Amino acid sequence: MAKAGFIHCPNVNEPDVAKCFFCLLELEGWEQNDDPWEEHTKHHTCDFLSLPKNFEDLTMEEYYMLEMTRLRTFICKIGRRIINSFEEEVATTRKHLVDYFVSKHQYTPPLPLPLSDDPSTQHSEGSHCQSK
Ligand SMILES: [Zn+2]
Repeated sequence: MAKAGFIHCPNVNEPDVAKCFFCLLELEGWEQNDDPWEEHTKHHTCDFLSLPKNFEDLTMEEYYMLEMTRLRTFICKIGRRIINSFEEEVATTRKHLVDYFVSKHQYTPPLPLPLSDDPSTQHSEGSHCQSK
């Protein structure tokens, strides 16, 4: 498992979950005859598994390039989780405010704005976190 990048990260509901230290892929439900390397490559293209040489033979420069890729993946995943959590909180707060004003002041919320054709106002969600 470790040679395929996996670290055992069990919890109460998922006792056999393993996470790749590099691409953060999480897999569970391991069968007795599963090949960790094969399962890993089947579910995700991982730069750690795609190394052209043994990890021990990397030069310092190659190691730091690999480490930068690993950190970028980690930061994007954490950032995306924080953004999603914040967006859920905004939606909940907005609903509470609308409910409050509707019940207290007979407020009628405005209709959603029509979608604009102007590309400068459109969001490119997650574009910074795409892998190559
Ligand atoms: Zn991986």
